[in-house]
Amino acid sequence: MTISETAPKAEPTTTEEFDVLIVGAGISGVGGAYHLTKQRPGTKFVVLEGFDSFGGTWWMHRYPGIRSDSDLHTFGYRFKPWRGAPIATAAEILEYMGEVIEENDLDQYIRYNHKITSARWSSEENRWTIDATRTDTGEPKRFTANFLWMCQGYYRHSEGYTPEWPGMDDYQGKIVHPQTWPENLDYAGKNVVVIGSGATTATLVPAIAGDCEHVTVLQRSPTFFRPGRNRDELAETLRELDIDEEWIHEIVRRKILHDQAIFTKRSFEEPEEVKQELLDGVRPLLAPDFDMESHFTPTYRPWRQRIAFVPDGDLFKGISSGKASVVTNEIDRFTAQGILLKSGDELQADIIVTATGFNMSVLGDIEFEIDGKPLVFSDTVTYRGMMFTGVPNMLWVFGYFRASWTLRADLLADFVCRLLAHMEETGSKRVNVELRPEDEGMELLSWIDPENFNPGYLMRAMPLLPKRGDKREWQHTQDYWGEKDEIPAIDLDGPEFVYG
Ligand SMILES: Cc1cc2nc3c(=O)[nH]c(=O)nc-3n(C[C@H](O)[C@H](O)[C@H](O)COP(=O)(O)OP(=O)(O)OC[C@H]3O[C@@H](n4cnc5c(N)ncnc54)[C@H](O)[C@@H]3O)c2cc1C
Repeated sequence: MTISETAPKAEPTTTEEFDVLIVGAGISGVGGAYHLTKQRPGTKFVVLEGFDSFGGTWWMHRYPGIRSDSDLHTFGYRFKPWRGAPIATAAEILEYMGEVIEENDLDQYIRYNHKITSARWSSEENRWTIDATRTDTGEPKRFTANFLWMCQGYYRHSEGYTPEWPGMDDYQGKIVHPQTWPENLDYAGKNVVVIGSGATTATLVPAIAGDCEHVTVLQRSPTFFRPGRNRDELAETLRELDIDEEWIHEIVRRKILHDQAIFTKRSFEEPEEVKQELLDGVRPLLAPDFDMESHFTPTYRPWRQRIAFVPDGDLFKGISSGKASVVTNEIDRFTAQGILLKSGDELQADIIVTATGFNMSVLGDIEFEIDGKPLVFSDTVTYRGMMFTGVPNMLWVFGYFRASWTLRADLLADFVCRLLAHMEETGSKRVNVELRPEDEGMELLSWIDPENFNPGYLMRAMPLLPKRGDKREWQHTQDYWGEKDEIPAIDLDGPEFVYG
């Protein structure tokens, strides 16, 4: 039980006032703080973070081997060169973020151990009132802000998603979710089954296989992987030529984004060729008689789910060495010793790791009210996946699935700063987006088109998420290459923006 759960609900004794309040000190929130100080110096702002340190995703995930699956040239901020290998460990990402905080003196703006519980908008006062609880002392805290910058990520940080399988209570071993990996979990010499085949599994399995007796990856269906070397030759060449690191960062980002754009386009236009290329990348890393068809040949179009990069093919090396294996089947039930499969086989396990994904969290599980009425987020329509009809002075940073999250965090930070400047120039205290006359009768659809991208956590959360329209302005298009030009060009005096 945390302190906040046991504490009596007391009223805060003071209220602190800010122009902008940033929720969360992950990569998005820290980036937001940086951009505000550079682009809007003098803005009175605070970053509230529930954890006792910065980093968000990279602070809380502690499973062995935790690393990015995007390259850090584009997952890193555009303003701070990344000097390491493209794929980075959580510790390296935290070090990089720590440098950003230190070099720009951002610590003064961040309040750790502040878990926000509610946010209430008053149209009379044109401001948000934000209630938080200190997770270390239980003390209630109150803040007001004119603008709320939601950098709280997209999934519930306190618990991962574990499906309910029959017989789980009968199982005598340990069930672990990677999101809440126990600090001293002893897996040495043990038989471990990892359920799921996403990026987490691809990271975790090579990291533990050497110490375990055996690791079995149990997947319902195969996933695409992209093995490759964890180095960037262009960056290395430019470094040899003694090119300035800032130039290297920019050039390598452009090259990576150029290649990714081609890959993404091809995955829509010639999915069969892309599929064969991906499979050809994996095949040589496995024994000639390995059953590729059953275990590594997905039935969906490439990029409909995130494609995990496997640095140096380490996952496949583990399989080839016999320390790890893959089973593609469905779970019938848990037993005392392990898992009974629908095929009738039983997998024995001392530890079962459920790498089965996230619970999506819509708006950080914060209770929102607009003028005394609870906000039903699913009744709103999203403006470019960042603002929402009927919700004033608020923006949510929701990154990309097929490109690095931070690309969008940087783009949206520019947008917020431009919007705030525009409001100052026009003397506006309030902005919200509204459907235009030309949008009347527009068909409202779910947040994202399942044909486009359909991982389980998104599908489960769809009923809770805002609606999407059938025009680009009313969608999170997931298209960095379009948005990098569209977002800076948004006409802030367009009819979709209503000021007050
Ligand atoms: C294991 C893993 C690997 C990933 N790898 C990649 C990758 O390689 N590339 C990529 O592009 N994306 C990746 N992602 C997606 C990743 O979450 C984002 O890229 C990015 O780190 C999100 O940053 P963020 O700051 O927006 O959110 P988060 O990292 O989730 O941080 C949000 C912060 O907000 C705080 N917060 C939330 N609610 C509240 C509240 N109510 N009160 C106070 N504070 C609150 C949280 O404590 C947290 O610190 C990965 C995700 C996971 C889980």
